[in-house]
Amino acid sequence: MSSGRDAAPGATRSCPHCRSTILDSAVRCPQCQHHLRFDAGAAARGLRTFSPLQVEALLGPPPTGEAWEYSILLVIRNARGEEVGRQIMGVGAVHAGDERTFALSVEVFAPARRSASPVG
Ligand SMILES: [Zn+2]
Repeated sequence: MSSGRDAAPGATRSCPHCRSTILDSAVRCPQCQHHLRFDAGAAARGLRTFSPLQVEALLGPPPTGEAWEYSILLVIRNARGEEVGRQIMGVGAVHAGDERTFALSVEVFAPARRSASPVG
């Protein structure tokens, strides 16, 4: 197992618990929440964390009483607008009298010595 300190930024691995693709440097799996390392986390590795994006939206019940189907698509683009990631995060249906809440957050791990966030 690598230490995370010597891995290239953005290097990935599979979570041993849920098999999600996660950062090699992750201390905790964002999918299943299992701890993966027994160090003190990002602070011990000289990283600061911030979340430049957190959104939450509610899809209320269909007004006609019929079910609505939904598909959640995540697209990641680089500075040139080129797609570097695209994934269907989930699909489903909302039936009369029910609703769904969708929450998206981006967590960033940056070297603590940098003074300015590149986002926001
Ligand atoms: Zn996991």
